[in-house]
Amino acid sequence: MILSPQKLTLEQWDGHWDLLARQGLLRPEHCGPLSRHVSDGDTRLLALRFDNSPAALQLWNLLLTEQDRLWQWKEGGKRLVGTMKDLGTVPVMAYSLDDLVAFYPDGAWWTPCVMEMNQQLLQIADSLGIDESFCPVRAMLGAFVNRNHFPIPDLLICSVGATCDDFSAIAQRLNGLGFPILWWEIPHRRPPEPWEEAVQIGNGLVAPASLVSLVRNELDRVRSALSALAGTDLDDLKLQAAISRANQVRSLLASLNRLAFTATLSPLPALEVLIAQMLAIHFCSDLGKTVDVLRALLAQAKQRVDAGLGYGRPDDVRIFWVNPPADIKVMNLVEDYGGRICGTDFMFTHALDPIDLDLPPMDALARIALADPMVGPVCDRARRIAAEIQRFGCEAVVVCRIPGASHCATEGSLIAQYLRQTCELPVVEVEVPSLVDTTVHVFENRIKALIETAKARRRG
Ligand code: SF4
Repeated sequence: MILSPQKLTLEQWDGHWDLLARQGLLRPEHCGPLSRHVSDGDTRLLALRFDNSPAALQLWNLLLTEQDRLWQWKEGGKRLVGTMKDLGTVPVMAYSLDDLVAFYPDGAWWTPCVMEMNQQLLQIADSLGIDESFCPVRAMLGAFVNRNHFPIPDLLICSVGATCDDFSAIAQRLNGLGFPILWWEIPHRRPPEPWEEAVQIGNGLVAPASLVSLVRNELDRVRSALSALAGTDLDDLKLQAAISRANQVRSLLASLNRLAFTATLSPLPALEVLIAQMLAIHFCSDLGKTVDVLRALLAQAKQRVDAGLGYGRPDDVRIFWVNPPADIKVMNLVEDYGGRICGTDFMFTHALDPIDLDLPPMDALARIALADPMVGPVCDRARRIAAEIQRFGCEAVVVCRIPGASHCATEGSLIAQYLRQTCELPVVEVEVPSLVDTTVHVFENRIKALIETAKARRRG
């Protein structure tokens, strides 16, 4: 049975949930109503509108139950690995070992949004000297201090070197607060000199072989620490099996993105596509469930496309979105204003690219870590975005700025400038705070102006 796509408020979802449960279209024991998370403090859910499919419900449930799951894993004897900054590489290594579960404490940067500041995480960071001149990832400090959001990991691992000033300072502050961190170095990615051996690291990027070797050695230290934590050897066979499973996630997401960005009508809202992409970085602490959820979403999207169903109108303006928004509500808003997200770079594109299974696993992981868009020159990132804009036929670009983020200070403007010149498209840079409500009119005006400009260009 194909449900007509419809965005529902939280309240509407509750009634819809009853109906779907009665019709046997969802399994209540696996997927409770979303509104139960409001009493946990996730009050932003009240301001969002959600896709009405059981697959989307599974997606939100997977996301919103992560905290409980982490506690359950810990109580069940698993060892928790808090991996920070690399977004996508170390978790593949950790999930090679059955007794380890990896997650990103930096994911707490969305907590002030989802919990509408009611946990005081940013205030705790303020009190520790990490004020609003830093990006919202400082919420992670508050989460470590108040211990309300995730169990303290048994091992903390953080990449350093080619990292933004914010993260470097916040992670050092965390270390200074008595949370020991295993640091590993990710060097700045540079093009090879003419006399250097060069290697492909994925998606058209080339790096000096010496850099790949340096990263491989650094990741070998991480491998040893993970082996010691699990009390068993992390060998190449185990790594290869985990890489295959990570590639399965990446492949499902590639198919989902393709459908979401290219179908005549979008089979899924931009908000659900954003949440689905986030699953790539650490599988929401459950690799098996991530695969199940993505399969269900993809099947739902295919059904809708085959039936000619979807969101919006065929003439909605096709927008490429750069950087994750601190307030996820803006994904709903862009669609309300007549835009459609048809391409994204949420700063972890390397977590969506397939990992080369023909290489020795540590070599393949070193290359994918070096392909991180945030460790290389901004022109590499801008070129990839331009190629995706062309691939998905985007007509306008939003460069989303993150308040206080040092990586945005000049990078956003450089990307915007490059895209204006290269793609000759209208580009807007707009800052999205953790709660957009007080500045929503500014956001609305900027996005509507962008959409009008793109439509005017269609008319020549
Ligand atoms: S400044 Fe940018 S890259 Fe650094 S932690 Fe904040 S959002 Fe991430």
